[in-house]
Amino acid sequence: MAAPVLGIDLGTTNSVVAVSDAGNTRVLTEPESGSALIPSVVSFHPSGDVLVGHGARDRRLVDAANTVYSIKRLIGRPFRSEEVRRARERFPFELREGPTGGALVVARGESYTLPEISAFVLREVRSVAERALGQAAVRAVITVPANFNELQRSATKAAGRVAGLEVMRILNEPTAAALAYGYGSGQTGRVAIYDLGGGTFDITLLEMQGDVFEVTATAGDTFLGGDDIDLLVAERMADVFLRDNRYDPRGDRQAYERLRAAAEWAKCELSAQPEVELTVEELAYGEDGAALNLNFTMTRREIEAMLTPLVGRTFDVCEDAMRLARLRPAEFDRVILVGGSTRIPLVRRMVQEYFKSEPCCDIDPDTVVAMGAAIHARALAGDVPQPSAPSSQVQVPDNAIGKVALRKVSAERVSLPAGLPPPIAEASNRTAGGPPPAADVVLGSSIVVGAADIDVDVNMNEMLPPAPPPPGGTGGFDAAIMMQQPQAPYPSAMALPQTRADRPAPLLLDVTPQSLVVETVSGYCDPVIRRNAAIPVEQTRVFSTGLDGQESVLIRIAQGESRRYDECQALGQLELHGLRPAPRGAVKIAVTFEIDADGTLQVRAEDPETGQRQGARIALVGGISDEEIAMMAQRQGQHFAESR
Ligand code: ADP
Ligand code: MG
Repeated sequence: MAAPVLGIDLGTTNSVVAVSDAGNTRVLTEPESGSALIPSVVSFHPSGDVLVGHGARDRRLVDAANTVYSIKRLIGRPFRSEEVRRARERFPFELREGPTGGALVVARGESYTLPEISAFVLREVRSVAERALGQAAVRAVITVPANFNELQRSATKAAGRVAGLEVMRILNEPTAAALAYGYGSGQTGRVAIYDLGGGTFDITLLEMQGDVFEVTATAGDTFLGGDDIDLLVAERMADVFLRDNRYDPRGDRQAYERLRAAAEWAKCELSAQPEVELTVEELAYGEDGAALNLNFTMTRREIEAMLTPLVGRTFDVCEDAMRLARLRPAEFDRVILVGGSTRIPLVRRMVQEYFKSEPCCDIDPDTVVAMGAAIHARALAGDVPQPSAPSSQVQVPDNAIGKVALRKVSAERVSLPAGLPPPIAEASNRTAGGPPPAADVVLGSSIVVGAADIDVDVNMNEMLPPAPPPPGGTGGFDAAIMMQQPQAPYPSAMALPQTRADRPAPLLLDVTPQSLVVETVSGYCDPVIRRNAAIPVEQTRVFSTGLDGQESVLIRIAQGESRRYDECQALGQLELHGLRPAPRGAVKIAVTFEIDADGTLQVRAEDPETGQRQGARIALVGGISDEEIAMMAQRQGQHFAESR
């Protein structure tokens, strides 16, 4: 097998890795245990070893203060955010503020950034994959919740780099799940992906047309998942223990951690059985030193009564997505269940009631995301290297006969199979192998393409005119290329010109989950790229100087839907520098904000008067520099080598 590209579902609770090759798509399991789920837990042992996965999870019960879990809930969040504040109350490990406003984990006297913690998990995932495959694996596609913002996505990428991975793509989890179900099936229809995991809930609505997957809306809640259910059950257990023993275990972090683990066990049992009974021994000691045990029973009926409001909240989020897509739940052809918490019978019943159709669960909800990531990874595996940012990429699947509209682009590299319509072939000729094109390549406005497997990497250094709204989308800009709905399926896969994999890449049309905003005056902000815009997407804004001779401009940027800047999630600031000296207001800078196919933000700036490119840099809250990544990778390599 050629160098594999891993599909990694980096979960809040568990991570899963899969690969796809000509034969099939499969989840890789730990050779020793046969387990596909790798707990996303890192424990710092007194010996100096760093345990990751199952070994680390077991340490939660005995060394809670140095055992770190659910880091995905916090990654990319500023230390001063509500989420980190809540986490500090409930997590037994220590968090403190880092120099750039991010959160750091402190364990055994050392501090670690959150990407560094995630990188430990990714290293373990990679090690599991390499042992299962019997060969090295460096490239990967990593999935994230669809509603992850810029900070969370870039922190996840940083984690990949610290783990020594080449992250080829950040892919949204629901889109991956849809791929696992739909890719290659030739099906058409509306699909809803309902993902209730350990930490988060996500709903994504998409249209499937053969191998074209177009997301129409996505919404989520990053604090709604199985962990919250565990806490409800643990609270009930603590109440019972207090009633029986007049001792409140909530004051003792280690004891509470044991309750939480027992609660999770009880919850999972109740998905299969009508009642559970359990004892937690020596949860605390009485005044006379005698051990106090928790004896606890719970019925499915009881847990369901507790859960109904929590599961109900998932449908508020669904309603939000329905509004965006202007659809009703009953208009969906399929509902796909993702995430361990969808094993709960009540969840399945409520989903069925809401969508008025039985959800599909033929693929294990725990592994479906990794499988989809692997499918996409394989599609990217044969690719030429990614161009330097900003870039956009479009893949046209074999059975798509549609229109590809290429507007004015400057193509740095275009790699295409033979036998293409002349305008595209010409672009390819101009750029293939040779130096970058001297002039912009202006392509015909619309070209009919059929039976082609195309990868077009374009690097735009031109401002594009506004594009018409993409099909089914809510408007805004698309990058350079717009693919219309295929009009008819291609008759036979066998007859296709094949360039790399035996099946060409799926076309993924994703959307941005939150609006990107810039701060304006008196605490207000102005959206630059609106929520639910199809990505890749870009928008240009013109800024000007406010002082005579001003050499740089700082613009605060955030993501969110509020008109007030402070109510949005601050991303950091954009710095424009090296401006020419001139009276105030005389210098204008056109800043182009791009959200690329990974959902991450890129900017470039230009002085429209002189055509000069301007320096533009984004300093993200909690951002990590390349040097820091290299240092973390080195420290981690040592830890890992010592532990093994
Ligand atoms: P994530 O994507 O957040 O890592 P997963 O999809 O792995 O999460 O789901 C983990 C969650 O699913 C945990 O809260 C776990 O307790 C829960 N879970 C797993 N199996 C069951 C089950 N049989 N019944 C109820 N909850 C379950
Ligand atoms: Mg998940």
